[in-house]
Amino acid sequence: MLARKDLWYSEYHSNDVKLSFNIAEYLHEEETPFQKIAFMKNETFGTFFTLDGYIMLTEKDEFVYHDMITHPAMATNPDIKNVLIIGGGDGGSARELSRYKHIERIDMVEIDERVVRLCQKFLPQTAEVLDKDPRIHLYFEDGLAFAKNAKDGEYDLILVDSTDPIGPSEGLFTYDFYSNCFRILNEKGILINQHESAFFEDFRSEMIRAHQKIKKIFPIAKVYGFNTPTYASGYWYFGFASKKLDPIKDHDKEKWESFGLKTKYYNSDLHGGCFALPTYVRQILEAI
Ligand code: SAM
Repeated sequence: MLARKDLWYSEYHSNDVKLSFNIAEYLHEEETPFQKIAFMKNETFGTFFTLDGYIMLTEKDEFVYHDMITHPAMATNPDIKNVLIIGGGDGGSARELSRYKHIERIDMVEIDERVVRLCQKFLPQTAEVLDKDPRIHLYFEDGLAFAKNAKDGEYDLILVDSTDPIGPSEGLFTYDFYSNCFRILNEKGILINQHESAFFEDFRSEMIRAHQKIKKIFPIAKVYGFNTPTYASGYWYFGFASKKLDPIKDHDKEKWESFGLKTKYYNSDLHGGCFALPTYVRQILEAI
């Protein structure tokens, strides 16, 4: 058993529940005009970083989140060619999309350039793709304004890979933003966005707020879940909203499998399973 230094990073998931990581190494800390960024290392989870004290990703379990934000949509419409990522400064979502040879353009709009630059330094596992794939175009601006100014029907897929709705990402959880997403998606367009988690009260109320708005705008609005050890309650959700395509009825398993991508979390059997929600989550969503 290794001797441990008594330095810990803790994140509260409710007033009296927290998740703590022993810090093997404190790598970097800085305050930008948008948020406070910190990079640390834990023996079990590897390098991880936080924004305003909330964990964004760890080297060890980021594959879950990045598989699940990208592949379910790609397997529902395998012809997706133009993608917009809002946030996603660590590069993990762009990395997964860049594995699809037929995607033509990936616009990534990140409000805080320092997140990208620091991830390129400390987390090449997710960020090194950002200056290697010429299809990725980086814009350092507010995703809310970007969506407002984008052309009608410009994108096949929008991934909202944002922080929780506090600080700079508040606007990304508004009716206005989701309406612009609807407008800039084409007729087969899909929007994947944060739906937080259902167990702890604070996260649950954000799930409800996000879903309420999206349901009013998109004819198809589903929710799917995945197991991610470092997020509150260990279980997290994304929303799948679309104008036309249903993630179960239109699941194109054969076409997706023909791409031959090796994935560590997502697979075709799990595709259907992740949309099957636990009863308490179903009840929360049905009450909306
Ligand atoms: N996987 C992460 C999570 O949920 O914990 C999110 C990853 S990514 C690091 C989130 C990014 O969203 C951050 O880098 C943050 O700077 C960016 N962001 C927050 N608000 C934004 C906005 N209004 N426009 C564009 N990017 C934004």
